[in-house]
Amino acid sequence: MTPPASGQVQPIVVIGGGFAGLSSALAFSRLHPRPPVVLIEPRDRFVFVPLLYELMSGELKGWEVAPDYASLLQGRGISHLQDRASSIDLDARSVTTASGRALQYSQLVLATGAQPEDFGIPGVRDNALNFHTLSDLQPLQERLQELRRRPSGTSNLVIAGAGATGVELACKLMDLLNGAATVQVVELGDQILPRSKAFNREQAEISLKKRGVTIHLNTRVDSVSATSVSLSGPQGSYQQNHDGLIWTAGSRPTIPDISPKLELHQGRLPVRESLRLKAYPDVLALGDIAVNPKADELSGWPHSAQAAIQQGQFAAKELKAKLQGRDANTFVFKDLGEMLSLGIGDASITGLGLTLSGPLAFKLRRLTYLTRLPGLSLGLRAAGAWLVGP
Ligand SMILES: Cc1cc2nc3c(=O)[nH]c(=O)nc-3n(C[C@H](O)[C@H](O)[C@H](O)COP(=O)(O)OP(=O)(O)OC[C@H]3O[C@@H](n4cnc5c(N)ncnc54)[C@H](O)[C@@H]3O)c2cc1C
Repeated sequence: MTPPASGQVQPIVVIGGGFAGLSSALAFSRLHPRPPVVLIEPRDRFVFVPLLYELMSGELKGWEVAPDYASLLQGRGISHLQDRASSIDLDARSVTTASGRALQYSQLVLATGAQPEDFGIPGVRDNALNFHTLSDLQPLQERLQELRRRPSGTSNLVIAGAGATGVELACKLMDLLNGAATVQVVELGDQILPRSKAFNREQAEISLKKRGVTIHLNTRVDSVSATSVSLSGPQGSYQQNHDGLIWTAGSRPTIPDISPKLELHQGRLPVRESLRLKAYPDVLALGDIAVNPKADELSGWPHSAQAAIQQGQFAAKELKAKLQGRDANTFVFKDLGEMLSLGIGDASITGLGLTLSGPLAFKLRRLTYLTRLPGLSLGLRAAGAWLVGP
């Protein structure tokens, strides 16, 4: 679709088609009357990142985990501009894209998400593999294939970070490697999954132990080379050989160039409880790039797909209130629980009124994600595939 030509009603411009941006664009398209919406997103596919593990293992197919925007946006009156927003002029209410296009907006939604953060640790950028998006899968899958060709037990994968991504990945990799290599997880803190629910942490510990994953707690990555990693831990500094190091130890928001410069809070864009910028109320910031400066870590909303979807849906309510001249709404995050993928056919769930682990939790996790997938018609096709799956 082509974006509206100049002279037409200025559209709502959404920058970033991830969980927050896509959910907001879809919610705007359900308003009556339907406002013109332009979604600026460089990729041609939406990526359902919580299911990347299943895509890597072959348990799910690409079309289920990464449906294309053309299908998701079909018939919804949303123009997809496949481009990258390179700069935003808040006073002029305009966005310039990498290809040199300039767009005026009536309302702007900033939802550009996050990217891996290496904290400047030498060698991470050049030598580590990532597990953050679709394009990270191929190098990882190629590495796994190579390790499977080597004599059993001679190779070692290291995962930096024992948050949800590191732990879920470790379980899945052990199942996929099936003894071809060992997996070690290095964590700076004194426990795995520091932000997870206690039941899920216990289940994860059991799953990691059962699979023989070695965990190094209180251990810092000092540098990474192509074949080894320098670590400092309770027993001092040492070198560990690796046949692949996967970096899951941090992420930072991807904020486009904005003028005038905005003051950040904890590296993110501070927003009011209405998710609007304080000085520019015609701009909403959603998802991983936004933070409530008044909340602490416990009372603030998490940086998760769950929160991003809820914020996307909230944005449409907020716009409606504004159009009707009502006061701004307050975004309240509703915790729907936490689900972890813990290896092939295994998962752990805390929430939805239950605690559950094992194969049933695995099926429920897939079904639950299905209901959260933006774009219902495609979601229903995915449901069919999952329900008849193993
Ligand atoms: C491996 C992995 C597993 C995860 N598992 C879970 C989970 O189980 N549950 C959960 O709740 N959360 C999970 N998360 C976190 C969750 O994915 C993020 O919190 C969520 O994606 C944030 O949504 P967002 O819309 O802010 O950003 P994203 O979903 O990252 O979307 C940002 C979009 O902006 C686009 N973009 C970036 N820059 C520009 C630009 N300049 N112009 C235009 N577009 C741009 C990007 O291409 C991208 O499509 C996981 C994350 C990872 C990496």
